[in-house]
Amino acid sequence: MWPGWGPTTVLRPKRILIVGGGSAGWMAAAYLDAVLNRGSRTVDIGLVESPDVPRIGVGEATIPSINHILAAIGIEEREFLRRVDGTFKQSIKFVNWLHDKGEYYYHAFARIVPTPIDSTGRRWLKSDRSLPFMETVSAQPVLCEMNLSPQMLAHWDFGRPLIYAFHMNALKFADYLCELATARGVEHWLDHVTNVEVTESGNIQSVNTAAGLRLEADLFIDCTGFAALLIEKKLGIGWVDCSQWLMCDRAVTMHVPYEHHYPGYVRPYTTATALSAGWVWEIPLQDRRSLGYVHSGAFIDDNDAERELRTFEGGHAADLNSRIVHFKVGHRIKSWAGNCVAIGLAGSFIEPLESTGLYLSDLATVMLAEHFPYGDDMAPLAYRFNRIMTNRFYEILDFINMHYCLSRRKDSPFWRETGKAEHITDRLKAKLEFWRMKPPSNVDFEDQFFPGQPEIPLPSGGFPGDHRPPVDTGRLFTRSSYEAVLYGMDFLSEECRERYGDARPRTSIHRQVAERLAIAPRKLPPHDVWLQRVVGMPAWGKKGS
Ligand SMILES: Cc1cc2nc3c(=O)[nH]c(=O)nc-3n(C[C@H](O)[C@H](O)[C@H](O)COP(=O)(O)OP(=O)(O)OC[C@H]3O[C@@H](n4cnc5c(N)ncnc54)[C@H](O)[C@@H]3O)c2cc1C
Repeated sequence: MWPGWGPTTVLRPKRILIVGGGSAGWMAAAYLDAVLNRGSRTVDIGLVESPDVPRIGVGEATIPSINHILAAIGIEEREFLRRVDGTFKQSIKFVNWLHDKGEYYYHAFARIVPTPIDSTGRRWLKSDRSLPFMETVSAQPVLCEMNLSPQMLAHWDFGRPLIYAFHMNALKFADYLCELATARGVEHWLDHVTNVEVTESGNIQSVNTAAGLRLEADLFIDCTGFAALLIEKKLGIGWVDCSQWLMCDRAVTMHVPYEHHYPGYVRPYTTATALSAGWVWEIPLQDRRSLGYVHSGAFIDDNDAERELRTFEGGHAADLNSRIVHFKVGHRIKSWAGNCVAIGLAGSFIEPLESTGLYLSDLATVMLAEHFPYGDDMAPLAYRFNRIMTNRFYEILDFINMHYCLSRRKDSPFWRETGKAEHITDRLKAKLEFWRMKPPSNVDFEDQFFPGQPEIPLPSGGFPGDHRPPVDTGRLFTRSSYEAVLYGMDFLSEECRERYGDARPRTSIHRQVAERLAIAPRKLPPHDVWLQRVVGMPAWGKKGS
């Protein structure tokens, strides 16, 4: 135990206490310790997590930003994959979002971006669209359809590396980070926080635990998940509800162990298939697939949603356990208030269609590290932190909102509702309007304030003096991402028919993509083979066994 961290603690500078030990808490602990205490200890970091409140246990698909976190903490990729039953993720495959007729498109992590001017989108729009846009600029959709690994078994000699992220067991991820962080000096208490003490100035002074500890710190990080014990229950910081734009509010989840049913491959991508009142994720790990039907309780009851999920998965899913996870889409009015910063589900939540939950925790943690040392007056840092987090939240919200609003499905009350104008954000409406005039290009992402967008400031209460609307220039979702979804969802198809007629040139694939695909099967092993040979995934046998 740290000196001074017993029942009779004394406030010392540079002490950070993280409350909550899910993915957000342990990512913050391990990352802050790795970057702030590199070489010599500059800050004492402790984490207290309740033995009585389980982690949420979802959050298994990542985006490539996870690589930065792993590298900074000093985690080697293969060891990581072994420890978290991890697999590679090269893309998200969206199925049945446009018409519910088996159609699909990929949002791949890597694509060719010709310089100085990238006219691939315009060329595709003028062509006969005989191939999906993404397949013309990226090898990854086809590599994914072939279930190939983005890594070779031998030394890499296959041109530019493929960009990828991971699927992982979220509980094992938190355990692994806990093991690393505590070995390096992060203090850990398994104890339930029962009370939070606040000074007259509104700062948190200490948290008290069931075992009788009184833990003081200079900065408190609230990673208590949806409980939001410090930021909401104690400090009363409100939540901005965004369910108007994303109507799903729960998920029925299920694990399909390979022992029970092995489909015969391990897909190197996440699948998001639209169902009657939402969509289902399929995340392949080394020992199972995870499924989750994200849906809206206003359009389907939990029993029917569970039935629909089982039907989707097939007969072998009849006896598998399932559970319901409730959630609320939105964000804190301010995630940093006084000396308390909310990271993870305590700070914000957007449905996991683009796997951005862990990314937001990672962004917050990196920003916190960059703002260090905090000093006595944290207000200017908090101001910037809150603005950036809120901006990024809306960047993600718009992008996910777009998946729904471009759908032409009208086959259920849910899909008839999502297409209505009142469920599309004003920012997104303005963007789509602009892109009907001129297809997206790089410059659109320098400043994403478009004509027609009302100048509504960020939600009031958290940003005195800040009257600018959210302007997302974070480039999390760049022109490449927008093109993937827009063209995957047949955006501008009518306009192009009118403008270019029916006799259009055949769609062509970028030369580099064609070259890579021609030799990929000789270079890249099947994903399951790579996992078996390199990180010891069991050989699960034949399809359906
Ligand atoms: C349905 C769903 C699917 C998701 N899918 C993805 C995905 O694919 N990709 C992605 O990036 N993100 C995803 N997310 C988001 C992701 O799960 C979270 O961002 C991530 O798990 C972080 O959770 P957390 O650590 O904030 O909360 P939790 O995991 O809930 O952890 C909360 C912690 O607080 C502790 N705690 C609570 N009360 C107390 C107390 N009184 N005293 C002490 N400790 C306490 C608990 O013990 C626990 O350790 C998903 C979220 C949901 C809801």
